[in-house]
Amino acid sequence: MKNKIIFSGPCSAETETQVMQTAKSIAAIDKQIIFRAGVWKPRTRPNSFEGVGQSALPWLSQVKKEYGLRTATEVANAKHVEVALKHQVDVLWIGARTTVNPFSVQEIADALKGSSVYVFIKNPVNPDNQLWIGALERVSNSGIRDIGLIHRGFAVYNKSEFRNEPMWQIPIDMKMTFPNLPLVCDISHISGKRNKLFSLAQKAADLNFDGLMIESHNDPDKALSDAEQQVTPIHLKEILTKILWREQHDQLSIDIPLQQMREEINTLDDNILELIGKRMLVAEGIGMIKKKQNLPILQLGRWHEILDQSFTKGSQLGLSSDFITKYLDAIHIESINKQNKIMSQ
Ligand code: PEP
Ligand code: MN
Repeated sequence: MKNKIIFSGPCSAETETQVMQTAKSIAAIDKQIIFRAGVWKPRTRPNSFEGVGQSALPWLSQVKKEYGLRTATEVANAKHVEVALKHQVDVLWIGARTTVNPFSVQEIADALKGSSVYVFIKNPVNPDNQLWIGALERVSNSGIRDIGLIHRGFAVYNKSEFRNEPMWQIPIDMKMTFPNLPLVCDISHISGKRNKLFSLAQKAADLNFDGLMIESHNDPDKALSDAEQQVTPIHLKEILTKILWREQHDQLSIDIPLQQMREEINTLDDNILELIGKRMLVAEGIGMIKKKQNLPILQLGRWHEILDQSFTKGSQLGLSSDFITKYLDAIHIESINKQNKIMSQ
């Protein structure tokens, strides 16, 4: 866990006792953990607990003083920033429902001017890298130097096993674009359920995330928000101890077999792309015939034949049906686009 950024604490600060008890147990695990607590809660539906508001900020100051933990809270407007800074909260984060709104982000960025607070930006609720990057630029343009990113998953209409779909490719793309910004995975809001936390934590570690956000509460079942996903500090400790963080190597110390295998991967990737390129040329040929014979591009019978054949082959090769579906969808869309172009020529 060395050098990893861990945020933990309750979804919401509810009472002074709840905050202090939870913080005490967290400090006993590791004083490097940053104590998170939502003071203002953006709730999807009205009549849910919306946080106690700024009267919780003195509790966070007390957590710092008594237990030596750094503190973090979510800000959604200029007023939040102003009072949180006045109470010396160490880290402010912009929540997913705020990152989607450039007006709010700009208002927050303006309020941050002149401060040296650490700001983490959660991904927007919808899978849109540009919106995430836009928020990053607004905060950075306001002179904030210490900025981090939090991946908390994305809302989808059809609920899957996750509360918010992780769509790992998006945070990975962000890491590739901004390699120097710490990227933390909020496994609590991705999972929605505490029994999924460990496997998500390990996955984030395997993907070389720089840290985790995990909601914890001294009495999770009685929590006023996000009860199902919060864990006791004991459970938190169990998760943190079990995670296997992979070692970071610099290029020179990577051993030879790994390098050879990477070269093999590079060659294979090259071959795969060449094959896909060839496949597209054939699809374009078919497109010309369809155009000449006035046939529709999409022929469902033929497409099902391709699907069946690929699922059989894929399962023999140990590929998941989820992967085969995504792979074939991508190929199919590209083929259709190519044929469309030919049809409209
Ligand atoms: C939270 O961290 O409690 C929260 C509201 O998160 P998000 O913005 O990811 O929904
Ligand atoms: Mn929460």
